[in-house]
Amino acid sequence: MQNNMLTISKIEPKKGAVMIEKPIPDIGDDDILVKVLATSVCGTDVHIYQWDAWAQSRIPVPQTMGHELAGKVVKVGSRVSHIRIGDIVSAETHIVCGLCEFCMTGQAHICKYTKILGVDRDGAFAQYIAIPAANAFVNDPNVAPEMLCIQEPLGNAVHTVLSGDIIGKTVAVVGVGPIGIMAVDVAKAVGAAKVIAIDINDYRLDLAKQLGADAIINAKDTDVISSVRQLTGGAGVDVVCEMSGNGLALNQALSYVKDGGRVSILGIPTKPVEIEVGRNIVFKGLTIHGITGRRMFSTWFQVKALIDSGRLHLDKIITHKLPWEKYEQAMELMESGNCGKVVLMVSHPEED
Ligand SMILES: [Zn+2]
Ligand SMILES: [Zn+2]
Repeated sequence: MQNNMLTISKIEPKKGAVMIEKPIPDIGDDDILVKVLATSVCGTDVHIYQWDAWAQSRIPVPQTMGHELAGKVVKVGSRVSHIRIGDIVSAETHIVCGLCEFCMTGQAHICKYTKILGVDRDGAFAQYIAIPAANAFVNDPNVAPEMLCIQEPLGNAVHTVLSGDIIGKTVAVVGVGPIGIMAVDVAKAVGAAKVIAIDINDYRLDLAKQLGADAIINAKDTDVISSVRQLTGGAGVDVVCEMSGNGLALNQALSYVKDGGRVSILGIPTKPVEIEVGRNIVFKGLTIHGITGRRMFSTWFQVKALIDSGRLHLDKIITHKLPWEKYEQAMELMESGNCGKVVLMVSHPEED
């Protein structure tokens, strides 16, 4: 194996990223080294690429970008027993302490000491990545790497959709970016009665339709609240999956969700949102869920089972599969919003 590898890294505190060589990382006794085969672009990567206020406050420079991956294990640390060289793995991107109150009570996804790949430490836009073996999820090697690398965001969608009853329910998915699109697919796959996709981007609404959304609403030119009521016979929806992070959209959702309904929120508003707590939450008897990350690792097993069931349409969700050298094009696509999931295929030298 060569000593150096290519990476897509942030080397200066400004917009953009560069493809540069770095040494292949060493691994500790509890780590594994993964030869990355496919990696996908997350909204987080776009924030880092654009170098927005959040990225400036959070991301150390220099750092390798990316966190969603599938790859082959090429080295295992001396204390690693459950992972073998040659295994095809994906990574849970939240590296948790294992020792805090939350980790010890089955809630590692809200570990107080979480470190995130490609955010707090070097990421997956690289030919190789070192990760704790505890973060590796062993895949079926017969599934294509481009499908396997999107399990991490798919896990966000699964965690959101399945955080309460869903079978036979009417569901609004608010914001159908890549994770919202996945939520539409998951909700249909697990037996939601009716799925309504809401966004302002026609490309993505069209994709939601192709994935089986029963109705789509463009919030730009439609009265969302009355449309949802109309589509549900005046009742409103049982479940809202809030993926937009938009305060107005959240308020609309709190209004058209049925009394006694559930609102699971994954989208993160950039500023505080004013809400009619009394009228729209308390008296409606709503259940509000904050969704962060994936449950470790029950969500991963749900994701795997759903992929294995053949009920998802990952081939439609992945709208672009590019050689990783075209990362700038990938970022532009994501900025435009005219894409579903964008995957970068990582190339390696012949002999490797
Ligand atoms: Zn992600
Ligand atoms: Zn912890």
